[in-house]
Amino acid sequence: MKSTRIFLAIFLIAICALNTNAQERSAAKPVKAVKFGKLWDAKGKLWTNAIVVIEGDRIRNVTTDTSAIPPGAEVIDLSRYTGLPGLIDVHTHMTIYTDETPGVPMLKQLTSNPPAVELFLARKGAMRTLESGVTTVRDLGADQYLDIAMRDLINRGEMTGPRMFVCGYGLYITNTPYKPGLNPPAGGIADGVPEVLRVVRQQIAAGADLIKMYASTGTDDDVTGFETYSYEEIKAAVDAAHQFGKKIAIHSYGPDGARDAVRAGTDSLEHATDMDDATIHEMAKRGTFYVPTIDHNRYYLDNWQKIGYANGFQEKTKAFMERNLETARKAHKAGVKFAMGSDAIYTMFGENTRELDWFVKAGMTPEQALRTATTNAAELLGKEKELGAVAPGYFADLVAVEGDPLADIDVAINNVRWVMKAGAVVADKTKDRGH
Ligand SMILES: [Zn+2]
Repeated sequence: MKSTRIFLAIFLIAICALNTNAQERSAAKPVKAVKFGKLWDAKGKLWTNAIVVIEGDRIRNVTTDTSAIPPGAEVIDLSRYTGLPGLIDVHTHMTIYTDETPGVPMLKQLTSNPPAVELFLARKGAMRTLESGVTTVRDLGADQYLDIAMRDLINRGEMTGPRMFVCGYGLYITNTPYKPGLNPPAGGIADGVPEVLRVVRQQIAAGADLIKMYASTGTDDDVTGFETYSYEEIKAAVDAAHQFGKKIAIHSYGPDGARDAVRAGTDSLEHATDMDDATIHEMAKRGTFYVPTIDHNRYYLDNWQKIGYANGFQEKTKAFMERNLETARKAHKAGVKFAMGSDAIYTMFGENTRELDWFVKAGMTPEQALRTATTNAAELLGKEKELGAVAPGYFADLVAVEGDPLADIDVAINNVRWVMKAGAVVADKTKDRGH
């Protein structure tokens, strides 16, 4: 009897061991090795003949030793290219995509499409964003929680697109005397501290990753920057977001909203132009991220007829852009941290990284500009240990560009040939004619 029991115990242990082996085998993650001629890892090293070994969706290690390629690994040879970490755009509106249907102004398309149609169309913008080398976005304002739906569909593999961090409804005041026609999404309207607290909590309860607040006028062809919220309301939003472990992005076109947002402790400041020296100094001291979004006004100027703006806004927008660039120049000189945000909307997807060119114009080296879309952006997301660099344990988000992006930032903007997100190739132009 006793020996039968012992035999049974051994038998069960053996079965368990077999099971464990089977589980390990079925859970085995695909292993890939990507070879780059050069690799800028965003960790301070420029590699020559780098091999990035990937297991599943993560980077296992980076090496130059070909014997370190695991047997059976799929080898992807990109020796002709320079590797970069997947780029991060910290200011998009992925759900507000429009196509260029002739004769239908984009503004009108937006109001006439049902939400399900909007979301279905948005997959095209998502694809173009990936093709530009952007594998992660921070999406700053959507209607009807389409952003939460899109984030979740992408995470479930039902939709192809960049990894999204989203805010739900941005907070707006009811209206402004400067823009009587403005009709912000009803879900985001909040007046006074109690309503601000309620709307912040509603976004978090709905599943938002962060909070967005509009603290001034200014959008589309309107470059006014009148502060819309009081300091007390802004402070309430910042504190409520932080209480729940969420970050907050505050929109201000003008200097007053910027000053109050920075003083209230915002994590990032979007657009702000004409900031005074004291505000810039405060940003540098606190480590507040500046997301100037200079290039989105260039896009509006290039496409105003297709969008449907009334003629006559151009001079003011051009002057705003110059002041925006000048503010960026001052902020960079003062040591303010920048993150790259395109404010991509309508058909701007795919042009996400053009902002980097403005950063170089504002005085950055190409490498400093690349940091705004990698390590800095990852820090702003609170994901600096898994995004924005090519290193063990990080998501296998990689971009191959043709040329030297550290010598010429346009290489990173215009010469993207191949993109991997979380270990899967999502764009490949390496076999196109001429490359
Ligand atoms: Zn925006």
